[in-house]
Amino acid sequence: MVSKIELNERQETILQIVKNEGPITGEHIADKLSLTRATLRPDLAILTMAGYLDARPRVGYFYTGKTGSQLLTEKIKKIQVDDYKSIPVVVQENTSVYDAICTMFLEDVGTLFVVNKNTHLVGVLSRKDLLRASLGRQDLAEIPVNIIMTRMPNITVCSNDDLLIEVANKLIEKQIDALPVVKEEGEGLEVIGRITKTNITKVLVDLAKNEVI
Ligand code: ADP
Repeated sequence: MVSKIELNERQETILQIVKNEGPITGEHIADKLSLTRATLRPDLAILTMAGYLDARPRVGYFYTGKTGSQLLTEKIKKIQVDDYKSIPVVVQENTSVYDAICTMFLEDVGTLFVVNKNTHLVGVLSRKDLLRASLGRQDLAEIPVNIIMTRMPNITVCSNDDLLIEVANKLIEKQIDALPVVKEEGEGLEVIGRITKTNITKVLVDLAKNEVI
């Protein structure tokens, strides 16, 4: 759902009335503005949904006392991995470095996840991992990726219901570009998504547009 938190003039006026006189019923607010209750309903709904106002049955509306930046922080802390994750690109552990490089170009991603024959996560390949392997004089078609990848258990992962802000923090702390989104499956982890710096950037852009899921 897309919600706008930028308030229009009438919503600002309502906010002031409730701030000064709340708790106040919708009926009373309408009277003060010489509008009908029905006309006000969408504005009150927006103000309540955005967290500026709270409504109690038979008491009316009251001001929550939260500032725009507090509400923004609350909003950010509600965004989960599942809301922004991308599709993961995986390769088998016996794939050659040569084929992994081709996959990275074809799929247009910067990180590949490596799985075993049970489709469980076993490794991660970054652009630099593949570049480093290419610096030697080995035949890249002969080297399997499991020789050069970063392997389990040293992989930083996240799950669908993790907070995106915590994942962003991990990307910075560990100085990596991407995390696999995983879920437990039997003895291992199944890769169900990917969070990259691009996904985090998208959150920033959406917040600036006041559009957050
Ligand atoms: P690049 O190496 O292309 O700059 P990264 O910064 O993502 O890309 O990767 C740095 C190193 O960290 C690489 O060796 C890579 O294998 C490893 N790496 C990348 N993502 C993860 C992850 N989620 N968990 C653990 N290691 C990772």
